[in-house]
Amino acid sequence: MRELWLKPGKERSLARRHPWIYATAVARVGGAPGPGDLVGVHGADGRWLAWAAYAPDSAIRARCWSFDEADRIDRDWLAARTREAVGRRDRLAQVSDAVRLVYGEADRLPGLIVDRYADQLVLQLQAPGVQLQSEVLLDALCEASGCRNAFERSDSALRARESLPAAPGPARAEARGVLRGREPPERIQVREHGLAYWVDVRRGHKTGFYIDQRDNRQLARELARELASTLGRAPRALNAFCYTGSFSVAMARGGAGDSLAVDSSADALALGRANVELNGLDAEQVQWRCADVFEQLRALRDAGERFDLIVVDPPKFAASHHHVERAARAYKDINLNALKLLQPGGILMTFSCSGAIDVDLFQKIVAGAVIDAGVECTMRTRLGPGADHPMLMTHPEGEYLKGLLLQRL
Ligand code: SAH
Repeated sequence: MRELWLKPGKERSLARRHPWIYATAVARVGGAPGPGDLVGVHGADGRWLAWAAYAPDSAIRARCWSFDEADRIDRDWLAARTREAVGRRDRLAQVSDAVRLVYGEADRLPGLIVDRYADQLVLQLQAPGVQLQSEVLLDALCEASGCRNAFERSDSALRARESLPAAPGPARAEARGVLRGREPPERIQVREHGLAYWVDVRRGHKTGFYIDQRDNRQLARELARELASTLGRAPRALNAFCYTGSFSVAMARGGAGDSLAVDSSADALALGRANVELNGLDAEQVQWRCADVFEQLRALRDAGERFDLIVVDPPKFAASHHHVERAARAYKDINLNALKLLQPGGILMTFSCSGAIDVDLFQKIVAGAVIDAGVECTMRTRLGPGADHPMLMTHPEGEYLKGLLLQRL
């Protein structure tokens, strides 16, 4: 029997059903478990606490599968968890065929991310437990989703932290490769709220698309429509850090015109242009600019440009708690400069996907930017990810995307 005993007092977080066991909490390990092997976890007093997957080289030394001693963590158990996760997303199929089917800890499959793009699954295997069980999980995923194609896009930085091999074999350099079915095509077309988008699952960011912004894209489209009706003209939209331009497409469909989309990635912008065409929109509705957003916002202000609807959705500025201060300055800077470009009555949707910056801190940072910009704004609502990116209540680390919807008075 493979077992893990915690140091005295270290059972507290497990008693609160937090699913991670840090290396510093482990007193000893019995039965010589290998990477991903099932271990029974015990408190210092010997009491059974959880079933977990062992990760010998990671700071997160084990991730819990279950807190019920009666569970058998076998093929049937893993298949059942997978079916449940996929089933919880059934309702979303009416809205989109780009859906996160499994979101790690929140679906009680710690370390496993599965995104669906039409008939293609894209997996991130971020811990040895799900790596070891990947064949069982793939069988269950393909069965539950009806997809026959699965591709791996495991994040190499994350895998290095878990001491998983970056290159499992020559054919799967950087842990990218076909797990099931065919090689993914150059571009996969997905639909979302009646719009279509191209996704590059092999080279795009994350697994190819920002699925988590689905509801906010739809909201941006509605806001463009709202502004068009109050202004009596096409609102002018700015999409800063636009990636493949999904917000721009949604806002253009809502009636935005003479809009601008900015990103530093030329590849992403090329897909953005293709997305405008794919939706039969007028190419003139969105102008694409390959530039640094920090510089571009200042250049736009100097040129006297103004916008009615602005989306600011930067990459993760704070990789960890060590970077919070620097990240806060960066969020302040872009929001300050975006607010200076906002017309009276205009709307700003601003986001942070830094887990280390919680929503209260983000709101404080943006409030500071509002004051320094010398404008008055109301906050209409807070924003978050779609329903396929839930957070396990006992694992607040899973919360990352937050946004604010501001309107200038
Ligand atoms: N809003 C997008 C996702 C944005 S991801 C969507 O919903 O699809 C962040 C983007 O910021 C990436 O496309 C990245 O290329 C871009 N980026 C990162 N740093 C940048 C910078 N300094 N200037 C411009 N773009 C940047």
